[in-house]
Amino acid sequence: MAIKDIIERCTELFDDLEFNAAKNWKAADPDRKVMAYMPVYVPEEIIHAAGMMPLGIVGGGDQMEVIHGDAYYQSYICRIPRSTIELGVTGKLDFIDGMLFPSICDVIRNLSGMWKMIHPDKFVSYFDVPQNFVDGIGGEYYVRELEHLRDGFAELTGKPISNDAINRSIAIYNERRRLVREIYEFRSETPWKAPASEVYLLMRAGLVIPVEEHIAMMKDYLAAANEEQRPLRDSCRVVINGSFCEQPPLNLIKTIEMSGCYIVDDDYLLGNRWLLEDLATDGNALQVLADAFLHHSADTAAKYCTRKEDVGQFLLQSVKQHKAEGVIFAAPSFCDPALLERPMLTDRMTEHDVPHISFKYAENSGQMQPIREQTGTFADTLKLWS
Ligand code: SF4
Repeated sequence: MAIKDIIERCTELFDDLEFNAAKNWKAADPDRKVMAYMPVYVPEEIIHAAGMMPLGIVGGGDQMEVIHGDAYYQSYICRIPRSTIELGVTGKLDFIDGMLFPSICDVIRNLSGMWKMIHPDKFVSYFDVPQNFVDGIGGEYYVRELEHLRDGFAELTGKPISNDAINRSIAIYNERRRLVREIYEFRSETPWKAPASEVYLLMRAGLVIPVEEHIAMMKDYLAAANEEQRPLRDSCRVVINGSFCEQPPLNLIKTIEMSGCYIVDDDYLLGNRWLLEDLATDGNALQVLADAFLHHSADTAAKYCTRKEDVGQFLLQSVKQHKAEGVIFAAPSFCDPALLERPMLTDRMTEHDVPHISFKYAENSGQMQPIREQTGTFADTLKLWS
């Protein structure tokens, strides 16, 4: 398949706020159900094992006018909860059978309560994750949370979910994780062959189509991108940090690239690579998921870091691994987790002589010129003096 066709399909999915791909999947069989979830991470394997399709919701982006959503929240708050409410009250998510709100921040916690009030007849769960990483404490707690989730899904679908079924789903998600890692590595090695805006659209498609389809799409992309002849530019290599929840407009990602930066790593849509390694597929599946969360998962402001000296190590490691020349801290306005962690991360970058700049965005930011000037100047500075 040609790269143009793959990206056209991803763009179609990106633009479709009616979520027709998920609706069509569900319509093909009356027994099918769709379970939506918010960022950053939920164990999709359990949704999949229940025979449901996981549907990632990351707000309404810059195409949606928020009218009702503003009435639910004060003005000094990020935009993703308002546009998600807007998706809900305008009926765009009426077809879903439930929604998970993972524990990230107070905003998402409050949103789960509002969602329950707006959709009293739907499955709604606030999915709490451990803040303690000791196996016998946080690990045990997390296994119980996963059991609770599994039993809730079983009640919703009317079918028990076996350990074998979850293991089979883990195997499928292992393949997805491997491909995501491969694409990220491919971009890091040859960033001119896999522009960040394309990789972003490809990952974004994975939120709204069945995982099996996404796996096939990523394989097609890798094959096509390898073949594609694209010019090597004199851009500098940067890592993006802070964009793990509310997503920037696509134009912002394109603007960063056009200003002379190759994005060689990022934390956009982090959920699909939250677990860093392949998981065992023949054990106690919930225990395996819990172990992976506790000991082999990505570090982000949305996850509690128990030791002060560990803050920033994950980012530093990414800078080294991807031979990045600098870091762009780009976080949503009013995002408590990202913006409260930012000073600690910038301190850590300064300590290690990693050049960095910072700005904020909203999912509907329209003015790209100031960002282009800022990132363009940063890129020039890196080229001249780093
Ligand atoms: S953007 Fe930040 S503050 Fe807003 S819901 Fe997401 S994590 Fe919470």
